[in-house]
Amino acid sequence: MSAFVLVVDDNEDNLLIIRDILRTRGFEVQLAHDGPTALQSIEERRPDLVLLDLMMPQMDGFEFLERLRANPRHAALPVILVTARSQDDDLLAGYKGGADYYITKPFTPRQLLHGIGLVLGSGAAD
Ligand SMILES: [Mg+2]
Repeated sequence: MSAFVLVVDDNEDNLLIIRDILRTRGFEVQLAHDGPTALQSIEERRPDLVLLDLMMPQMDGFEFLERLRANPRHAALPVILVTARSQDDDLLAGYKGGADYYITKPFTPRQLLHGIGLVLGSGAAD
């Protein structure tokens, strides 16, 4: 498969790690360092999936998700939270905000790909 994935994270290393994992599996990848840039990117070309960091300055992942879901065109766009925050409250807030899945940092490539496979409904994972 060759899904188009938008990765949103304020940490450059995280962006590059995820990009490399996805590219080796044939995904097309777009990177965004912050929420506003990501929202603009989505308007320019709608991804099949968004991998979203929660802790970002300026606009955090929850606000990004809220803004994204407020747009009817993107209400059903699959979003996976990829975050170091693993408290129950964060997880529940993420799901209530419309996230489809939740991956905790640090993760293995296999965990990431498995989550993507689940959300995209394909055997893209392991
Ligand atoms: Mg962050």
